Amino acid sequence: MNLHEECGVFGIISPHIAHVAETVYYGLYALQHRGQESCGIVVNDDGVFSSCKDLGLVSEVFTADTLCRLPQGNMAVGHVRYGTTGGSSRRNCQPLEVNHQKGKMALAHNGNLSNAVQLRDELELSGAIFHTTSDTETIAYIVTRERLRTSSIEEALSGAMSILEGAYSLILMSPRKLICARDPYGFRPLCYGQTEDGMYVAASESCALKAVGAKFIRDLEPGEILVFGPEGIVSRREHCEKKEKRLCIFEYIYFARPDSVLDGVSVHEARIRAGRILAREHPVRADMVVGVPDSGMDAALGFGMESGIPYEIGLIKNKYIGRTFISPGQHTRTDQVRIKLSAIEECVRGKRVVLVDDSIVRGTTSGRIVRLLREAGAREVHMRISSPPFLNPCYYGTDIDSREHLIACRHSVLETAQIIGADSLGYLPVPELSSLVGGSGYCSACFDGHYPTPVPADTRKDRFEQKLSEQARPLDSLLAGIK
Ligand code: SF4
Repeated sequence: MNLHEECGVFGIISPHIAHVAETVYYGLYALQHRGQESCGIVVNDDGVFSSCKDLGLVSEVFTADTLCRLPQGNMAVGHVRYGTTGGSSRRNCQPLEVNHQKGKMALAHNGNLSNAVQLRDELELSGAIFHTTSDTETIAYIVTRERLRTSSIEEALSGAMSILEGAYSLILMSPRKLICARDPYGFRPLCYGQTEDGMYVAASESCALKAVGAKFIRDLEPGEILVFGPEGIVSRREHCEKKEKRLCIFEYIYFARPDSVLDGVSVHEARIRAGRILAREHPVRADMVVGVPDSGMDAALGFGMESGIPYEIGLIKNKYIGRTFISPGQHTRTDQVRIKLSAIEECVRGKRVVLVDDSIVRGTTSGRIVRLLREAGAREVHMRISSPPFLNPCYYGTDIDSREHLIACRHSVLETAQIIGADSLGYLPVPELSSLVGGSGYCSACFDGHYPTPVPADTRKDRFEQKLSEQARPLDSLLAGIK
């Protein structure tokens, strides 16, 4: 539970002028778990774009006043962000708005490009000037460059997709069209549906469709471009090289909301299956199963069903605090666990507890939770993790960028159990990941090292900021010399 999600995207096109920003607002609220650093909405009112974007949660950025100030329109696109490339400054808020030679567009992006550094270098050498440090601007540059030699925005996007590598689910808005696209591997989810009054909505997860009263129609296929415009709905699937689908398996384990269905597989049911597998693979004599709120709870339920050990609510979450990892730094994180979670003494005192969580990254949070249970009187604490150990960084939209931060890279399972203070520890075996989704077609590179794309040389989240400060250094020395 130390991982950051990536981002969430939401788009709407209505047959009539409406307060579409309000619908996007509700959609973004449902996607808030995917990113809590910043959010934004761009409304298209007959080709005139108006936007509101800022750092903060959806409820903080969009007050009644700010929402009312956004005009009515027939299209809008929205975004919630946790920056996996580029810092968390205002300039990186999305949707990104771009004016180009043939018009304008707004772009919302979920995922990370694995060739972002190379592409940005090439663009900068050809004269491009970047205003943000996120790789979304690289996508915007390439799409607009392609637009110069193509007859439509979707053709430009198609051309760009043969250049971009890595993870991207996009919602792009031009003056007359709303366009959704999923990268050829389908790393990140994207689906669409329709409301009763004829509006089409697209979102990262189906839970956001439900939130705005839209009926789910289908997921976009990997590599698909779906255009909503004057010609109706047009799908382009055969334009780029076919790849084997590699949806991020961690979407099922942790990122997505349990009430979402991704590529036909219920997130809740996948987590139940993970818990059942854990009970079979790592059985233990215990009095109760407790899930770490929220993402460990479904797997804990599955563990209880399979083992026959009663599922109990042994941990209570403070509903009014965000996810523990919003604030950076080990010290802050440690304090926040205690603020966020509390053990119910009357429930766990004197008991042997199976504690189920979705993952262990550094081990700090897990250690704190085990200690909370022990302080509340638990006799034994057996940790069960509904994912395999993290052994590799992710290049496709999460913030694990260094093996040195991964406890499983430096310690055995036994050592990790000792470090976090658990009586025993069991992870989901890598081969069992396929049981979660009922087959192949997923990415599990952070567990098994099988990357679907070439691995980038520089994976730091702040790589573009670092580059800027490196470029500034000679100037600094020059100025120091003058002084
Ligand atoms: Fe998901 Fe891991 Fe693949 Fe990243 S490396 S996309 S977190 S499965």
